[in-house]
Amino acid sequence: MQDEIIGIIGGSGFGDHLEGLLSDFEHIKVETPFGSPSSDILTGKMGERKIAFLNRHGKGHRFSPSDVPYRANIYALKKIGVRTLIATAAVGSLQEQIRPGELVIVEQFIDKTVRRENSFFIDAAAVHCEFANPTCAELNKFIAAAAENLKVKTHHGGTYVCMEGPQFSTRAESIMHRQWGGDLIGMTAMPEAKLAREAQICYSLIALATDYDCWKPQAEKDKHELLKEIIGNLQSATNNCLELVRAVLKGNFKLVNDECSCRKSLELAVWTQDEQISETDKEKLKLLFD
Ligand SMILES: [Zn+2]
Repeated sequence: MQDEIIGIIGGSGFGDHLEGLLSDFEHIKVETPFGSPSSDILTGKMGERKIAFLNRHGKGHRFSPSDVPYRANIYALKKIGVRTLIATAAVGSLQEQIRPGELVIVEQFIDKTVRRENSFFIDAAAVHCEFANPTCAELNKFIAAAAENLKVKTHHGGTYVCMEGPQFSTRAESIMHRQWGGDLIGMTAMPEAKLAREAQICYSLIALATDYDCWKPQAEKDKHELLKEIIGNLQSATNNCLELVRAVLKGNFKLVNDECSCRKSLELAVWTQDEQISETDKEKLKLLFD
């Protein structure tokens, strides 16, 4: 277990809290052929478990969801040895029963993003990974098991609609997302989950509901009051999520599984003939096949 590194992606609040729970921590700079990741990577140990945390939006929430360097982030984590990745992200709830402050272990996505580089293989080769089950079923099971002993309500399964933003949905869109079968709305899970799959990494996403999306009629509230409420919900959801991640890391789970199907996603995925792929691209993409 000692040499296995569990990757975690989350927001700044999450990282600051996490740092306090780690021993031997350090911040390391990693460069990739896809540029610099959002931030330095925080590495350290929680008990026996080695972990690596990446702040998705960078220091001071520098990157908007459309501008997050998703490819560099996933590549950088893989480069330092991450094969299992637990991502966390704030979302709006599209369902009455998912209340602000609660957590959801995401099972499915609907990708509505339109201006993000969603593959490592752009301009290099035609590569088609299976993505019917976009999060790791095994890892999801462990997270669900760890959640059982916690006070916070954790929903098992849920469909996350990823929109481009940066504006929030219109009411008509919000109602449509519900009709599509969406449970959550957010702006950051895509293409992160797709890239994790292309990098043959087991990926799970814990979503933190901060508020109901605008499908739900709300009592007229002062804007500042509303924002305060959302930030309050985000803080409690972040704390809950941290508890959950801690329980997963402390649990006796086999979080890194070389035999998981996520780890073999490229086996039959490359459709381009080998001689058509340039040596430069091969060199650049080799890491993904490890
Ligand atoms: Zn897996």
